[in-house]
Amino acid sequence: MTRVLLLGGTGDALKIARRLGAEHVYSLAGLGKVPDDLSCAVRVGGFGGSAGLARYIEDERIDLVIDATHPYAAQISANAAAACRDTQVPCWALRRDAWRPQADDDWRMVDDWYSLVQVLESFVRPLFTLGREPLAHLDEIAAHQFWTVRCLDPYPGNARARILAARGPFTLAGERELFDAEGFDVVVSKNSGGSATEAKLEVARERRLPVIMLRRPDLPVVDREFDAASELLAALDNLR
Ligand code: NAP
Repeated sequence: MTRVLLLGGTGDALKIARRLGAEHVYSLAGLGKVPDDLSCAVRVGGFGGSAGLARYIEDERIDLVIDATHPYAAQISANAAAACRDTQVPCWALRRDAWRPQADDDWRMVDDWYSLVQVLESFVRPLFTLGREPLAHLDEIAAHQFWTVRCLDPYPGNARARILAARGPFTLAGERELFDAEGFDVVVSKNSGGSATEAKLEVARERRLPVIMLRRPDLPVVDREFDAASELLAALDNLR
Protein backbone atom coordinates (compact mmCIF):
# COMPACT_ATOMS: atom_id res chain seq x y z
CA MET A 1 0.00 0.00 0.00
CA THR A 2 1.31 3.47 -0.91
CA ARG A 3 0.63 5.96 1.88
CA VAL A 4 0.05 9.39 0.36
CA LEU A 5 0.56 12.85 1.82
CA LEU A 6 -1.52 15.25 -0.28
CA LEU A 7 -0.67 18.95 0.05
CA GLY A 8 -3.77 20.93 -0.79
CA GLY A 9 -5.63 24.19 -0.51
CA THR A 10 -7.20 24.16 -3.98
CA GLY A 11 -10.39 22.78 -5.52
CA ASP A 12 -8.38 20.24 -7.49
CA ALA A 13 -6.66 19.01 -4.33
CA LEU A 14 -10.03 18.54 -2.65
CA LYS A 15 -11.17 16.51 -5.66
CA ILE A 16 -8.20 14.19 -5.16
CA ALA A 17 -8.68 14.11 -1.37
CA ARG A 18 -12.25 12.88 -1.88
CA ARG A 19 -10.86 9.79 -3.57
CA LEU A 20 -8.31 8.93 -0.85
CA GLY A 21 -8.95 6.22 1.74
CA ALA A 22 -8.38 6.34 5.51
CA GLU A 23 -4.66 5.45 5.30
CA HIS A 24 -3.81 8.69 3.46
CA VAL A 25 -3.35 12.25 4.74
CA TYR A 26 -4.67 15.52 3.31
CA SER A 27 -2.74 18.56 4.53
CA LEU A 28 -3.97 22.16 4.60
CA ALA A 29 -2.24 25.39 5.61
CA GLY A 30 -5.36 26.40 7.57
CA LEU A 31 -6.34 29.57 5.72
CA GLY A 32 -9.56 28.31 4.19
CA LYS A 33 -12.35 25.87 5.02
CA VAL A 34 -11.36 22.51 6.47
CA PRO A 35 -13.56 19.74 5.06
CA ASP A 36 -15.09 17.39 7.62
CA ASP A 37 -16.56 14.82 5.25
CA LEU A 38 -13.46 13.07 3.92
CA SER A 39 -12.47 9.41 4.39
CA CYS A 40 -8.76 10.26 4.58
CA ALA A 41 -7.10 11.92 7.57
CA VAL A 42 -6.94 15.73 7.49
CA ARG A 43 -4.16 17.70 9.15
CA VAL A 44 -3.98 21.49 9.37
CA GLY A 45 -1.04 23.93 9.71
CA GLY A 46 2.57 24.25 8.61
CA PHE A 47 5.21 21.57 9.09
CA GLY A 48 8.02 23.97 10.04
CA GLY A 49 9.82 24.34 6.73
CA SER A 50 11.28 21.59 4.57
CA ALA A 51 13.11 20.01 7.54
CA GLY A 52 9.81 19.75 9.44
CA LEU A 53 8.11 18.27 6.42
CA ALA A 54 10.93 15.74 5.97
CA ARG A 55 10.50 14.72 9.63
CA TYR A 56 6.76 14.34 9.12
CA ILE A 57 7.29 12.18 6.03
CA GLU A 58 9.58 9.87 7.99
CA ASP A 59 7.54 9.78 11.20
CA GLU A 60 4.31 9.07 9.33
CA ARG A 61 5.93 6.61 6.91
CA ILE A 62 4.71 8.49 3.87
CA ASP A 63 5.55 6.78 0.53
CA LEU A 64 4.45 9.49 -1.88
CA VAL A 65 3.93 13.25 -1.59
CA ILE A 66 1.48 14.91 -3.95
CA ASP A 67 1.81 18.68 -4.25
CA ALA A 68 -1.60 19.93 -5.35
CA THR A 69 -1.17 23.41 -3.88
CA HIS A 70 -1.92 26.63 -5.76
CA PRO A 71 0.62 27.58 -8.48
CA TYR A 72 1.49 30.76 -6.49
CA ALA A 73 2.13 28.83 -3.26
CA ALA A 74 5.81 28.56 -4.18
CA GLN A 75 7.20 28.09 -0.68
CA ILE A 76 5.35 24.89 0.17
CA SER A 77 6.11 23.51 -3.31
CA ALA A 78 9.83 24.18 -2.81
CA ASN A 79 9.64 22.62 0.67
CA ALA A 80 7.87 19.54 -0.67
CA ALA A 81 10.47 18.98 -3.40
CA ALA A 82 13.36 19.46 -0.94
CA ALA A 83 11.84 17.23 1.75
CA CYS A 84 11.17 14.49 -0.81
CA ARG A 85 14.73 14.70 -2.05
CA ASP A 86 16.05 14.44 1.52
CA THR A 87 13.84 11.48 2.42
CA GLN A 88 14.05 9.83 -1.01
CA VAL A 89 10.28 9.76 -1.30
CA PRO A 90 8.81 10.54 -4.75
CA CYS A 91 7.10 13.87 -5.27
CA TRP A 92 4.27 14.32 -7.77
CA ALA A 93 2.75 17.67 -8.56
CA LEU A 94 -0.51 18.83 -10.05
CA ARG A 95 0.42 21.91 -12.05
CA ARG A 96 -2.59 23.15 -13.92
CA ASP A 97 -2.01 24.95 -17.19
CA ALA A 98 -1.74 28.72 -17.08
CA TRP A 99 -4.34 30.82 -18.88
CA ARG A 100 -3.13 32.17 -22.22
CA PRO A 101 -4.09 35.56 -23.64
CA GLN A 102 -6.53 35.41 -26.55
CA ALA A 103 -6.78 37.65 -29.60
CA ASP A 104 -8.76 40.48 -27.94
CA ASP A 105 -6.89 40.37 -24.63
CA ASP A 106 -4.74 43.21 -23.36
CA TRP A 107 -2.55 41.70 -20.64
CA ARG A 108 0.14 43.75 -18.90
CA MET A 109 2.57 41.27 -17.34
CA VAL A 110 4.23 42.16 -14.01
CA ASP A 111 6.65 40.30 -11.73
CA ASP A 112 5.95 41.82 -8.35
CA TRP A 113 3.94 44.31 -6.33
CA TYR A 114 6.30 47.19 -7.16
CA SER A 115 5.88 46.86 -10.94
CA LEU A 116 2.17 46.19 -10.50
CA VAL A 117 1.71 49.56 -8.78
CA GLN A 118 3.58 51.33 -11.61
CA VAL A 119 1.27 49.84 -14.24
CA LEU A 120 -1.80 50.51 -12.09
CA GLU A 121 -1.01 54.24 -11.94
CA SER A 122 -3.02 55.09 -15.08
CA PHE A 123 -6.23 53.36 -13.87
CA VAL A 124 -8.99 54.49 -11.55
CA ARG A 125 -11.24 51.53 -10.61
CA PRO A 126 -9.23 48.30 -10.37
CA LEU A 127 -10.65 44.94 -9.37
CA PHE A 128 -7.99 43.06 -7.40
CA THR A 129 -8.23 39.27 -7.45
CA LEU A 130 -4.85 38.44 -5.92
CA GLY A 131 -6.03 37.21 -2.54
CA ARG A 132 -4.94 39.07 0.60
CA GLU A 133 -1.80 40.80 -0.67
CA PRO A 134 -3.45 44.18 -1.51
CA LEU A 135 -4.83 44.41 2.05
CA ALA A 136 -1.36 45.38 3.29
CA HIS A 137 -1.37 48.38 0.91
CA LEU A 138 -4.76 49.97 1.61
CA ASP A 139 -3.10 53.06 3.12
CA GLU A 140 -1.05 53.61 -0.05
CA ILE A 141 -3.93 53.95 -2.53
CA ALA A 142 -3.44 56.89 -4.93
CA ALA A 143 -5.91 59.76 -4.52
CA HIS A 144 -7.43 59.19 -7.98
CA GLN A 145 -8.16 55.47 -7.37
CA PHE A 146 -10.85 53.38 -5.71
CA TRP A 147 -9.92 49.71 -5.26
CA THR A 148 -12.21 46.72 -5.04
CA VAL A 149 -10.31 43.85 -3.43
CA ARG A 150 -11.91 40.43 -3.71
CA CYS A 151 -10.55 37.85 -1.28
CA LEU A 152 -11.77 34.90 0.75
CA ASP A 153 -12.44 36.52 4.11
CA PRO A 154 -14.01 39.81 5.22
CA TYR A 155 -11.63 42.67 6.05
CA PRO A 156 -12.30 46.35 6.81
CA GLY A 157 -12.10 48.68 3.81
CA ASN A 158 -11.54 52.45 3.87
CA ALA A 159 -12.60 55.57 1.97
CA ARG A 160 -10.66 54.38 -1.10
CA ALA A 161 -11.20 50.64 -0.94
CA ARG A 162 -13.99 48.13 -0.66
CA ILE A 163 -13.22 44.56 0.36
CA LEU A 164 -15.43 41.93 -1.18
CA ALA A 165 -15.34 38.61 0.68
CA ALA A 166 -16.24 35.90 -1.82
CA ARG A 167 -15.24 32.36 -2.72
CA GLY A 168 -15.23 31.01 -6.27
CA PRO A 169 -16.29 29.50 -8.53
CA PHE A 170 -17.55 32.71 -10.13
CA THR A 171 -20.06 32.60 -12.99
CA LEU A 172 -19.97 34.69 -16.14
CA ALA A 173 -23.38 36.20 -15.29
CA GLY A 174 -22.25 37.06 -11.77
CA GLU A 175 -19.02 38.65 -13.00
CA ARG A 176 -20.86 40.70 -15.64
CA GLU A 177 -23.21 42.00 -12.95
CA LEU A 178 -20.28 42.93 -10.68
CA PHE A 179 -18.41 44.72 -13.49
CA ASP A 180 -21.62 46.61 -14.43
CA ALA A 181 -22.22 47.68 -10.84
CA GLU A 182 -18.64 48.73 -10.08
CA GLY A 183 -17.42 50.17 -13.39
CA PHE A 184 -13.95 48.58 -13.20
CA ASP A 185 -11.40 49.88 -15.70
CA VAL A 186 -8.77 47.18 -15.06
CA VAL A 187 -8.54 43.69 -13.54
CA VAL A 188 -5.54 42.62 -11.46
CA SER A 189 -5.03 38.87 -11.44
CA LYS A 190 -2.75 35.92 -10.83
CA ASN A 191 -2.50 33.44 -13.67
CA SER A 192 -4.21 30.71 -11.66
CA GLY A 193 -5.47 28.64 -14.60
CA GLY A 194 -8.56 26.43 -14.31
CA SER A 195 -12.17 27.41 -14.78
CA ALA A 196 -13.26 28.52 -11.29
CA THR A 197 -12.03 32.11 -11.57
CA GLU A 198 -11.69 32.47 -15.34
CA ALA A 199 -14.98 34.31 -15.98
CA LYS A 200 -13.48 37.68 -14.98
CA LEU A 201 -11.04 37.36 -17.91
CA GLU A 202 -13.90 36.73 -20.29
CA VAL A 203 -15.73 39.82 -19.05
CA ALA A 204 -12.53 41.88 -19.35
CA ARG A 205 -12.21 40.60 -22.94
CA GLU A 206 -15.83 41.47 -23.78
CA ARG A 207 -15.34 44.99 -22.45
CA ARG A 208 -11.82 45.48 -23.83
CA LEU A 209 -10.49 46.06 -20.32
CA PRO A 210 -6.78 45.52 -19.64
CA VAL A 211 -5.67 42.83 -17.21
CA ILE A 212 -2.57 43.32 -15.05
CA MET A 213 -1.30 39.77 -14.74
CA LEU A 214 1.16 38.72 -12.05
CA ARG A 215 3.61 36.19 -13.57
CA ARG A 216 3.69 32.69 -12.11
CA PRO A 217 6.58 31.94 -9.75
CA ASP A 218 9.17 29.29 -10.68
CA LEU A 219 8.30 25.90 -9.24
CA PRO A 220 10.71 23.04 -8.50
CA VAL A 221 11.28 20.01 -10.67
CA VAL A 222 9.43 16.95 -9.35
CA ASP A 223 9.29 13.27 -10.25
CA ARG A 224 5.98 13.45 -12.11
CA GLU A 225 3.88 16.40 -13.17
CA PHE A 226 0.18 16.31 -14.11
CA ASP A 227 -2.00 19.08 -15.48
CA ALA A 228 -5.37 17.57 -14.53
CA ALA A 229 -6.63 15.95 -11.32
CA SER A 230 -8.16 13.13 -13.39
CA GLU A 231 -4.73 12.17 -14.83
CA LEU A 232 -3.15 12.20 -11.41
CA LEU A 233 -5.95 10.04 -9.99
CA ALA A 234 -5.50 7.55 -12.85
CA ALA A 235 -1.76 7.33 -12.10
CA LEU A 236 -2.57 6.82 -8.42
CA ASP A 237 -5.00 4.00 -9.26
CA ASN A 238 -2.19 2.29 -11.17
CA LEU A 239 -0.03 2.23 -8.03
CA ARG A 240 -2.53 0.36 -5.92
P1 NAP B 1 3.20 29.33 0.61
O1 NAP B 1 3.66 30.73 0.70
O2 NAP B 1 3.78 28.46 -0.42
O3 NAP B 1 3.40 28.58 2.01
C1 NAP B 1 3.64 29.28 3.22
C2 NAP B 1 3.70 28.25 4.34
O4 NAP B 1 2.38 27.76 4.64
C3 NAP B 1 4.49 27.01 3.99
O5 NAP B 1 5.87 27.23 4.13
C4 NAP B 1 3.92 26.01 4.97
O6 NAP B 1 4.39 26.25 6.28
C5 NAP B 1 2.45 26.38 4.99
N1 NAP B 1 1.65 25.61 4.01
C6 NAP B 1 1.26 26.00 2.78
N2 NAP B 1 0.48 25.06 2.22
C7 NAP B 1 0.38 24.07 3.13
C8 NAP B 1 -0.30 22.82 3.14
N3 NAP B 1 -1.06 22.40 2.10
N4 NAP B 1 -0.17 22.03 4.25
C9 NAP B 1 0.58 22.46 5.30
N5 NAP B 1 1.23 23.62 5.35
C10 NAP B 1 1.13 24.41 4.28
O7 NAP B 1 1.61 29.26 0.47
P2 NAP B 1 0.52 30.45 0.38
O8 NAP B 1 0.67 31.12 -0.93
O9 NAP B 1 0.55 31.22 1.67
O10 NAP B 1 -0.80 29.55 0.32
C11 NAP B 1 -1.22 28.86 1.49
C12 NAP B 1 -2.20 27.79 1.07
O11 NAP B 1 -3.30 28.40 0.38
C13 NAP B 1 -1.58 26.77 0.13
O12 NAP B 1 -1.85 25.49 0.64
C14 NAP B 1 -2.24 27.01 -1.21
O13 NAP B 1 -2.51 25.80 -1.91
C15 NAP B 1 -3.52 27.74 -0.84
N6 NAP B 1 -3.86 28.78 -1.84
C16 NAP B 1 -2.93 29.73 -2.16
C17 NAP B 1 -3.23 30.67 -3.12
C18 NAP B 1 -2.22 31.71 -3.54
O14 NAP B 1 -2.56 32.51 -4.42
N7 NAP B 1 -1.03 31.73 -2.98
C19 NAP B 1 -4.50 30.65 -3.74
C20 NAP B 1 -5.42 29.66 -3.39
C21 NAP B 1 -5.08 28.74 -2.42
P3 NAP B 1 5.66 25.46 6.89
O15 NAP B 1 6.86 26.02 6.20
O16 NAP B 1 5.58 25.77 8.33
O17 NAP B 1 5.45 24.01 6.56
